[in-house]
Amino acid sequence: MLTEAYSADAFRAQAHLLVDQLADYLQQTESRQLETVIPYHSPDESLAFWRSDFAQGPGNVQTFFQTVIDQSTHLHHPRYMGHQVSPPLPLAAVAGLLTELLNNGMAVYEMGLVSNPLERIISELLAQRIGFDEQASGFLTSGGTLANLTALLAARATKAPGDVWQHGSKERLAVMVASEAHYCIDRAARIMGFGDEGIIKLPVNERFQMRTDLLETYYEQATANGLRVIAVVASACSTSTGAYDDITAVADFCSTHNLWLHVDGAHGGAVVFSEQYKHLVRGLDRADSVTIDWHKMLMTPALTTSLIFRRNEDSFRTFQQQAQYLWASDADDWFNSGKRTFECTKLMMSVKIYALLKAYGEGIFTENIDTLYDLARQFADLIRQHPNLELAVEPQSNIVCFRVTNAPTADLNQHNTTIRRQLLHNGRFHIVQTTLHGQVYLRVSLRNPLTTLTDLEELIDSLVNLLIGTSANTPANQ
Ligand SMILES: *Cc1c(COP(=O)(O)O)cnc(C)c1O
Repeated sequence: MLTEAYSADAFRAQAHLLVDQLADYLQQTESRQLETVIPYHSPDESLAFWRSDFAQGPGNVQTFFQTVIDQSTHLHHPRYMGHQVSPPLPLAAVAGLLTELLNNGMAVYEMGLVSNPLERIISELLAQRIGFDEQASGFLTSGGTLANLTALLAARATKAPGDVWQHGSKERLAVMVASEAHYCIDRAARIMGFGDEGIIKLPVNERFQMRTDLLETYYEQATANGLRVIAVVASACSTSTGAYDDITAVADFCSTHNLWLHVDGAHGGAVVFSEQYKHLVRGLDRADSVTIDWHKMLMTPALTTSLIFRRNEDSFRTFQQQAQYLWASDADDWFNSGKRTFECTKLMMSVKIYALLKAYGEGIFTENIDTLYDLARQFADLIRQHPNLELAVEPQSNIVCFRVTNAPTADLNQHNTTIRRQLLHNGRFHIVQTTLHGQVYLRVSLRNPLTTLTDLEELIDSLVNLLIGTSANTPANQ
């Protein structure tokens, strides 16, 4: 069986069939011929389906692939506007097939002969676009969550007193971050043993940006309480509303107190590729470290994340005691990627990014960002003009939060939750919801550059129709 399963002929046949299935799938989703964006089933229904499939034992793998396609959320559908992952460019997925078969595991140079140099080239390109000088570089890692944790570990190695890696911390360390930051920052701080008190959350202003005017007061208070702040994390942009913190103000504060500035640009750091929108990250070149997910705005499959350091040498401190760092000339050891990353074995992510650069150049990233950010502004105009819709805040990115206001009951939270649930079960659009200042809002994150204003007008129509449905049902339910 193994000889047959490894044979070139088996691969050729299996892969050709799958490519045809996926091409048909792309055609049906991109043309909107497929009506459903999310074929929603409850978790228990779905489990029962697969249990019964599994009970049938081995069978036809093409049928299995088709069922996987049919029962998945269709990110390439122009009416997908839900969670924050890209519909990957097909070429990036093709590169994924290449790298999954070659499976060169990266951690040491001899297992990443191609992907390690490509990773360096990509890191240096991104460093340049951020505005860093030639001392900057970094690496790729498995997701923004891991990149942010790695950055904070580098911050600790650089800014905390003593050698925490060797001896543990004698002080109560802390980081400062806005309350709207992604939850992974909170999680990272807790993993590092900072606890509840070690995560100092600043309130946000009416645009959901960090209240940088309060940094000084919160810092003084923390210091008076015996905490040792080592870093501030700015969001570019935040996850819920897509709000960009004022990086320049945070950088000024960090310079004054000798703190590490990490910018979580997992979603919106990608604007460094856009002349039109890069003003949103003004001051980014003053960060010590920057996270940017390629799988959020830059059209690669997940997970593909860059962590870039202003001083690349800082990245070698993360997982080492300082003495060891000083003895070995690690900064020259860029090609053994495992020294600086959490991962030992790691995917050949750089090949997917490089393939896009090779085929299309950087322009494809610029075009994607400009298209999606522009579309969000047009969608916001539609919402503002609609009598029954209310915008939570003017969008800075491609994330738009709003709610339906003409509810049959006074409970707008309940009403918008119901609408979102109905939309999920209906399946023709995929959007999500979020809570802002204790209020429920619908949240659209424009992911697909093939989405048109007409799609968005239809979304609004659907919301209004569902609304009629709920009002009609209300008396019967009472
Ligand atoms: C998505 C996101 C993350 C988490 O990144 P993953 O790649 O999903 O691990 C972190 N921060 C922000 C601001 C994000 O939008």
